[in-house]
Amino acid sequence: MALSHSLGFPRIGRDRELKKAQEAFWKGELDEAGLRAVGRQLRAEHWQLQKDAGIELLPVGDFAWYDQVLTHSLTFGVVPERFRPHSGTPDLSTLFAMARGVGKGCCGGAHAQEMTKWFDTNYHYLVPEFTADQQFALSWEQLFEEVDEARALGHTVKPVIIGPLTYLWLGKVKGETEGFDKLELLDRLLPVYGEILQRLADQGVEWVQIDEPILALDLPQDWKNAFERAYNLIQREPLKKLIATYFGGLEDNLGLAASLPLDGLHIDLVRAPEQYPTILDRLPAYKVLSLGLVNGRNVWRCDLDKALDVLRHAHERLGDRLWVAPSCSLLHSPVDLGREDKLDAELKGWLAFAVQKCEEVALLSHALTEPEAPEVLAALAASRAVQASRAASPRIHKPQVQARLAALRPEDSQRPSPFAERIAKQREGLCLPAFPTTTIGSFPQTAAIRLARQAFKQGKLSEAEYTEAMHSEIRHAVQVQERLDLDVLVHGEAERNDMVEYFAEQLDGYAFTRFGWVQSYGSRCVKPAVIVGDLSRPQAMTVEWIKYAQGLTAKWMKGMLTGPVTMLMWSFPREDVSREVQARQLALAIRDEVLDLEAAGIRIVQIDEAAFREGLPLRKAEWQSYLGWATEAFRLTASGVRDETQIHTHMCYSEFNDVIESIAAMDADVITIETSRSDMELLDAFEAFAYPNEIGPGVYDIHSPRVPDSAEMAKLLRKAAERIPAERLWVNPDCGLKTRAWPETEAALVNMVAAARQLRAEF
Ligand code: GLN
Ligand code: ZN
Repeated sequence: MALSHSLGFPRIGRDRELKKAQEAFWKGELDEAGLRAVGRQLRAEHWQLQKDAGIELLPVGDFAWYDQVLTHSLTFGVVPERFRPHSGTPDLSTLFAMARGVGKGCCGGAHAQEMTKWFDTNYHYLVPEFTADQQFALSWEQLFEEVDEARALGHTVKPVIIGPLTYLWLGKVKGETEGFDKLELLDRLLPVYGEILQRLADQGVEWVQIDEPILALDLPQDWKNAFERAYNLIQREPLKKLIATYFGGLEDNLGLAASLPLDGLHIDLVRAPEQYPTILDRLPAYKVLSLGLVNGRNVWRCDLDKALDVLRHAHERLGDRLWVAPSCSLLHSPVDLGREDKLDAELKGWLAFAVQKCEEVALLSHALTEPEAPEVLAALAASRAVQASRAASPRIHKPQVQARLAALRPEDSQRPSPFAERIAKQREGLCLPAFPTTTIGSFPQTAAIRLARQAFKQGKLSEAEYTEAMHSEIRHAVQVQERLDLDVLVHGEAERNDMVEYFAEQLDGYAFTRFGWVQSYGSRCVKPAVIVGDLSRPQAMTVEWIKYAQGLTAKWMKGMLTGPVTMLMWSFPREDVSREVQARQLALAIRDEVLDLEAAGIRIVQIDEAAFREGLPLRKAEWQSYLGWATEAFRLTASGVRDETQIHTHMCYSEFNDVIESIAAMDADVITIETSRSDMELLDAFEAFAYPNEIGPGVYDIHSPRVPDSAEMAKLLRKAAERIPAERLWVNPDCGLKTRAWPETEAALVNMVAAARQLRAEF
């Protein structure tokens, strides 16, 4: 037999119970006992769901009040000075303070820990903060309590902890000790792992799962060496250890991972199926091999035959040393497809969420021991039927879309003239002042806007009434921008719920779930749209709104679209065609919209690519290929227009050094970026590369309600002008303003326009 286990289960609950309880607790509407009761209830439910699905070894430690990395920081006593409780021992309020910061009222206030993306997923973790003299001490009992809790319920459990190397890798050294190598902290950290493992052994735990996903990254040699050192020490602890890797192949770390002195190894065969034969050869004869064969990161049903082929082969070689699991923690997939009451039967039949993925894992294990059991035969037949219906479905395969893709020529992704010629024509046609001012697209999404949309969706507002409500928002946004005397206006995006979903809803080939929520961070969940089939745009999506807005003003109205890479990154993609093909289909759909906007008289079109950088693969060796097709997709979107039409793009993050070449290759006439918090240092990359096109470096941070004065913004602009020639600079905020309120938005923009005027006078 092959033991079935799960690496982790989503913690949010089928109905996002955890989110609701957290938020009620923060508002003071639920007390701590109430919050803890919700947590306990969810854990019990999730263990039971997995057990009922047929999972034999259940994860503990996957539950977190906010984030699992944060839980580890508390466990090791990695609590930055500014959050140290007076009483000495951290508690739930310490945890939430670290996650969310505390206002000025309490101990002078403390800003939250930094948050960043968990590998290449859309989950965000709280970055551990170390100091050079960091001490570690077991300071949080949650894991042990939850182990007891699960065992009291009669479950066989496998605690899950983040390994010491991955934990250190994820953290940052703060303070004056910049340049301090955090790897030096390892020897101080390891004794705490020893204690944890000893405690778990005392509790009667047989197996523990130690996650070391950094083994799927390009690791510096000293980190590789540290693995051997660390696990030679850890192996002494008296329980069995499975080291888990996921999100990619082990590649050059394969020999290292296989030979660590541990009892088992989990590998991701969804992301990296090619590593299987080598691992089999390199695995020492005493070790368990856990195969991740069911995709933990997407919503599609597993092709059971395909998985079973590998499994049977492995079983012959490994016998009882073979385990089967999802590829990674199910944290990254929605909870339960059973909740979807509005999906059509065909589509529902193609999908699997966390609960169903557990069933698939169990079925695979079962199929090994009892290949002829009726339920096994039935499940395999059903899986085959799904594969067959998808392979032939006209809902997925659209000859017209494919023919259009096949007919693409290189010149389709090439603007007719080089930038220098285009910009000359654009300057002549647009007649903008130096340091032109604009915004990134959205204006405050007020409660009134959300209420109107809700009422429209519930049928309480007619389409005409809803349109009028949105028109009135647009009129307001245009009036304000004219009063502020901005140069290039936007319509404000009032009608958009979300920058991806809004477009996905209007494209052919997308589907939507009702309950497909996945945790993004803390209590924030996202419900990504699902790319089901070949994508196309049946009709114009934004033209009427933009035309209406342009009709209200004699200034230029900027059309506003989401780019193909961002559409793809923030959706659940297909698995039957490459990301590249999906990006190209999206590119053609959005290109049609760009052309329709141009035909409607719009002279400036912005194509947002907020997720361009986050699409980068984990391994450097794959960057070139990704950047190639991602850049190409953007160019395909943007290249149909005349020279006179100005294409903008926008990206909101602060790391361009390693991708600047591709940013330049996108060849947008203007790029607006987030720079204010980096004090314009971010522009160094653009300067060093001699980036040729126009740039709008954000002059104020939109994440905070603070209103900087015009002197502060003018200072930033002067810094920008030291790096980029003044005639190529634009003036704009860091990002869209949808999360802000109107008063602070207007106040900040007044100052921004004043700063631009100041600069015009100086240059
Ligand atoms: N145009 C979008 C907005 O202003 C861009 C958002 C983003 O880059 N995240 O809201
Ligand atoms: Zn942005």
